[in-house]
Amino acid sequence: MQARCFCGDVRLVIAGSPDWVSYCHCKSCRKATGAPVTAYASFKNSLLSFESGKLNIYESSPGTKWGSCSKCHSPVSYQADKCPDDTHLHLITIDEYAELIPDSHVHFEEKVVWMNILDDHPKYQGSGPVLQE
Ligand SMILES: [Zn+2]
Ligand SMILES: [Zn+2]
Repeated sequence: MQARCFCGDVRLVIAGSPDWVSYCHCKSCRKATGAPVTAYASFKNSLLSFESGKLNIYESSPGTKWGSCSKCHSPVSYQADKCPDDTHLHLITIDEYAELIPDSHVHFEEKVVWMNILDDHPKYQGSGPVLQE
């Protein structure tokens, strides 16, 4: 698989499958993306190789790093020191996103009130068991 930012400058190759694919409803993700909900696929760092472009890293709090394209500024990745081996890629950056289907919701207690979620996937408070998977 391959992932790309909005302008295509940041390009990475993914040599394996994600540990999990989930929606995140937390306020930080909303602010970081400008979208009411975001979706991530989480990969072991060892599966990712950056082919081109440069990520600009914004550290919102110590150890919480948001990666965006330094050229088009679109969000690409999220990393946290509490799971140092993992990189969460914004699902839609992945060319094959249609094959990676989110099967849970995390931080569901922070969901925007006007959005109705009609699927049957588990809806967790906080990250639930997802980060441990
Ligand atoms: Zn870009
Ligand atoms: Zn979030």
